Amino acid sequence: MKSIRLIALVALLLGPAIVFSQHIGPRKWPIHDEGRPVPKVITPGTESSQDQPGTPPSDAIVLFDGKDLSKWASDKGGEPMWKVDNGYVQIVSGKGGIQTKEGYGDCQLHVEWASPNPPEADGQDRGNSGVYLMARYEVQVMDGFDNKTYADGQAAAIYGQNPPLVNACRPPGQWQTYDIIFHRPHFGADGKVEKRATITVFHNGVLAQDNYELEGGTVHKVEPKYEKHPDKAPVALQEHGHPVRFRNIWIRPLEEAAK
Ligand code: MG
Repeated sequence: MKSIRLIALVALLLGPAIVFSQHIGPRKWPIHDEGRPVPKVITPGTESSQDQPGTPPSDAIVLFDGKDLSKWASDKGGEPMWKVDNGYVQIVSGKGGIQTKEGYGDCQLHVEWASPNPPEADGQDRGNSGVYLMARYEVQVMDGFDNKTYADGQAAAIYGQNPPLVNACRPPGQWQTYDIIFHRPHFGADGKVEKRATITVFHNGVLAQDNYELEGGTVHKVEPKYEKHPDKAPVALQEHGHPVRFRNIWIRPLEEAAK
């Protein structure tokens, strides 16, 4: 009698879990299967301070370590013409933007930047640059510390589309971080977008973009739209005429989930 009661109790407790399981489709791996492949072991990096950049995770591709721009080209073609000095690279006005020689799709991207100090001018004309995913989708870089501008154009905005959740800017001259998680758009054979790009941005460790679904490529004062492009494209940094500095740039390409 006791065992029947026990079975009934177990059925009562487990029944709803089985009936109401939220898993979609058959499970490839049973729960807690010891045979399930475990994740690759990596060594995590260290945090940056104002005085010194941190170290990247061991599996990251270092795009800029403060010494040279060998992984970069000018977006005008040829060698990048920005100034590398003392562990950072500084934008040189009129010399164009820079972009990685390699292309990337889904990724985790870490970028550190500092606005010119003392600041000059106001609004969009102060410390403006940008981090472009796939050379098309801009996370705005600008001096947003005590500097008024339109919401979808401030630091950590998806320029022209989505303001950041908060303004987490540090004062000009101080190092700031972007940690970005990006998933590329997918296009059909007819060139139409089938799956939009999504982006998550942490600005100085604070959530600024929460899995935002992009409306298309970055444009100025016109409706964004998608235009079919390759599955991999460069990370680019914008030249907007202001001497913004960058350091400690690394990327971790992410394996794309099977369709
Ligand atoms: Mg910009």
